[in-house]
Amino acid sequence: MEETLTIALGQLITGGQINFDEQLAPTIFDVDEAELAFEQAVHLTGEAYVVDGNLVVSFSSDATAKMVCAVCNEWCDVPLRSKGCHTVELADIKGDNWDIAQFVAQELLLEVPTYAECQGSCPHRDDIEKYLRKSDENSLAVALEGLELE
Ligand SMILES: [Zn+2]
Repeated sequence: MEETLTIALGQLITGGQINFDEQLAPTIFDVDEAELAFEQAVHLTGEAYVVDGNLVVSFSSDATAKMVCAVCNEWCDVPLRSKGCHTVELADIKGDNWDIAQFVAQELLLEVPTYAECQGSCPHRDDIEKYLRKSDENSLAVALEGLELE
């Protein structure tokens, strides 16, 4: 697994095209969070070429985030997908290479949901809902008691 994927601009400027299909290491994500981690390879495919002084990168990427389930607190896998077409002015690129791995990592991070649940719907949800209903009734009873005291 590669930890980086750079696009060499030299051959593109003369009219070439680069096609890529790579497995990138999960270390492309620079995250240090208690409830978010990346352990599986990131699949990245696409192509890059230069038009009118712009680098054009069309890409499709898939990754798996590990997040803590909001219901049962266990780690669960959350599939992430990002695809699109990105344009960068060659004048804005320092050096002769463009690091697509960093770009794709940022795009995938935008797809991370604010909260996660096992398989999209936690099997423990029913237990929690029962508990939540009970505590709602309790707080209602407390509120009614408060009213009677006034
Ligand atoms: Zn869960």
